[in-house]
Amino acid sequence: MSLPREGIPWIEIVKELRKILRELPTHFTGFVGSMTTVPHQLAKQVFLEFMEVNANDIATFRRVRELELEAVRMLGEILGCRDCVGMITTGGSEANLAALYLAREHGYEVVYAPLTAHDSVFKAAKLLRMRVVIVEHRGYRIDVDSLEEAVRSNGPGIIVATVGTTGFGTVDPVEAVSAIAREHGCVVHVDAAFGGFVAPFLYPERKLGFSNDAVVSATMDPHKLGLAPIPCGGLVVRDEKWFEPLVFEAKYMPSGYQVGLLGTRSAGSIAAAWAMLKHMGWRGYEAQARELMRRTRLLTSKCAEIGLEPVVEPEVPVVCIGIDRDVEALEFLAKRGVYLYRCGLAKGVRVVIGPHVDEQAIGEIVEALRDFTKSSRSPSS
Ligand code: PLP
Repeated sequence: MSLPREGIPWIEIVKELRKILRELPTHFTGFVGSMTTVPHQLAKQVFLEFMEVNANDIATFRRVRELELEAVRMLGEILGCRDCVGMITTGGSEANLAALYLAREHGYEVVYAPLTAHDSVFKAAKLLRMRVVIVEHRGYRIDVDSLEEAVRSNGPGIIVATVGTTGFGTVDPVEAVSAIAREHGCVVHVDAAFGGFVAPFLYPERKLGFSNDAVVSATMDPHKLGLAPIPCGGLVVRDEKWFEPLVFEAKYMPSGYQVGLLGTRSAGSIAAAWAMLKHMGWRGYEAQARELMRRTRLLTSKCAEIGLEPVVEPEVPVVCIGIDRDVEALEFLAKRGVYLYRCGLAKGVRVVIGPHVDEQAIGEIVEALRDFTKSSRSPSS
């Protein structure tokens, strides 16, 4: 029986769990494949303080819903929206699911996306039984000609454009995509789960969000470069009317309703997102974005010195380093204490330059990669 009949003293439990934790890689010890990073101390503190408040009891904790809307409005401002509404979610997957659900409820039942979109988009379409039309990509960005052809043949739907693709750090041409959407009666969801904390600061001349009329919603995850702890995603929606289908009856709640896909949900994520947006401000995230791209360029130039190239030049700090034997490389690197991810559509290993990936970490990644390329060249390997 694994449930003890008599409870175990907490000190022993802590000891056992800490032992497990010590054996796991951490952001500071080589875990550089993921889009998560070390949460800011402030975010951790307020998360713990608000953790036990149920954000979905909107009558009792009205102020928490207000905080949530303030956080969402700040996320929206980064993406060019003055008065967006929405909600804090458990992450990008939930936000994408909710966004496609909204589109479906508003009558847009076809999803247009290239394979460079995050897997959660296809998962959401499957769960919602929406038809997916795969659009070509060129240079790991939506190919607008292919998109136009697809919408011409398949009719109105929701187009998913990604700002910061998961595997390659590329940015879809949101403005051109939105123009096609307008012309053909489609709407656009911008998945800026990762790149939303980078691209709007680095490329202010590009229209990446709500300044395009066709954009109805966006995903932007504070638990990635927003520096909040997991779980903390964001669904940003253009207006109340579009958000309406996410307001559900909850007969037993004092308010009579709840928002979003979940029932009970922790206010900790909301407090953490709100706190980080207020603490970092525009300038804080802008400075972070610049520094992370500087380090990204450092990584690619050091890789070039050992004969490795990115599959495509990234626009946000996600680099797919082209390597044919990528699965082998991941195993080799993990043994060296460098934990990378796969790129997905291309052969290569993915590095995400979060704030915890400093110059020393970059040096260690490149050294491990150099050793892999040497070992895979040697005849005895
Ligand atoms: N969208 C994009 C572009 C992503 O890169 C990711 C995760 O990597 C997601 C959505 C899903 O986010 P989460 O893992 O928080 O559900």
